[in-house]
Amino acid sequence: MDHVRSGQSEFSHRTVFDNGLVTDPAALRPRLPSPLREVTDDRFARHGVRLLLKRDDLIHPELIGNKWRKLVPNLAAAAGRPIVTFGGAYSNHLRATAAAGRLLGLTTVGVVRGDELADRPLNPSLARCAADGMRLHFVDRSAYRRKTDPDTLAAVLRAVGAEDAYVVPEGGSNAAAVRGCRALGEELRGRADVAAVACGTGGTLAGLAAGLGPGERALGIPVLKGGFLSTGIRALQTEAFGAPRGDWRLDDRFHFGGYARTTPALDAFAEDFEQRHGLPVERLYVAKLLYGLVTLAEEGAFAPGTAVAAVVTGAPFDG
Ligand SMILES: *Cc1c(COP(=O)(O)O)cnc(C)c1O
Repeated sequence: MDHVRSGQSEFSHRTVFDNGLVTDPAALRPRLPSPLREVTDDRFARHGVRLLLKRDDLIHPELIGNKWRKLVPNLAAAAGRPIVTFGGAYSNHLRATAAAGRLLGLTTVGVVRGDELADRPLNPSLARCAADGMRLHFVDRSAYRRKTDPDTLAAVLRAVGAEDAYVVPEGGSNAAAVRGCRALGEELRGRADVAAVACGTGGTLAGLAAGLGPGERALGIPVLKGGFLSTGIRALQTEAFGAPRGDWRLDDRFHFGGYARTTPALDAFAEDFEQRHGLPVERLYVAKLLYGLVTLAEEGAFAPGTAVAAVVTGAPFDG
């Protein structure tokens, strides 16, 4: 999409340059608060449960969903410095960062897991990153695993020629991102009893839970297999707010074998959900969340009268 011509994402590119520093998230013209829509779904209605869709996928056409909420505080903190961040070959976070770089005139570098990718044609996701001006730097899996240790990080920054860079962690989850996601919970206050979200790093859940009102609960559906996600979420909340916050829990049953793994049943479920509700269902995260919620409703896990808000954190990437 050409941002100069697109109606929605267009904004004053030049104003940002003239101002020098990129500190005004409003320059990205988000649609906030994101829309909240109730849908009728008999798999919930049968149990007296209401289902609401929190459409974070509509916040911004290119910085989609929770990526807007997590990135914008970091863009402000970067204050115009190059941004270096990390991700896998299909990372939604890398694409969002690259788009932000193009829209705001910031240099971005993506450190990509897997040095074998360097010799192959770019997949559509990485091709989009490159088209948005992101410099891609491929590292082997063992270096990627060690990316947060100071020597490895310093070597990466030297290699990409960005020693003054602002570093955003993999998945974009740090204290600033978690504080940014608190607004998601605040937007849902008084609107839902349970707010549910798919989890990668858990940064979005950490912020969401902190923003909800008294008596409101957050539910996380991890899409990765067997991590130490609870520990990570508590650590992120402590970093962001000084202590764990809110009433949250995880249900670990819906990862379907791990990140980016799927099954025919999950695909069929997602297609059916799209047809029922006209919602484009992102497959890596949102499909697993919705599948988990339908299962929980059918198990009677939600008391009659409960309003469940499913956070639609992303949209399908169509290359
Ligand atoms: C990145 C992403 C998530 C995971 O967010 P975390 O804060 O890392 O848990 C969820 N859904 C979608 C669509 C994403 O792109």
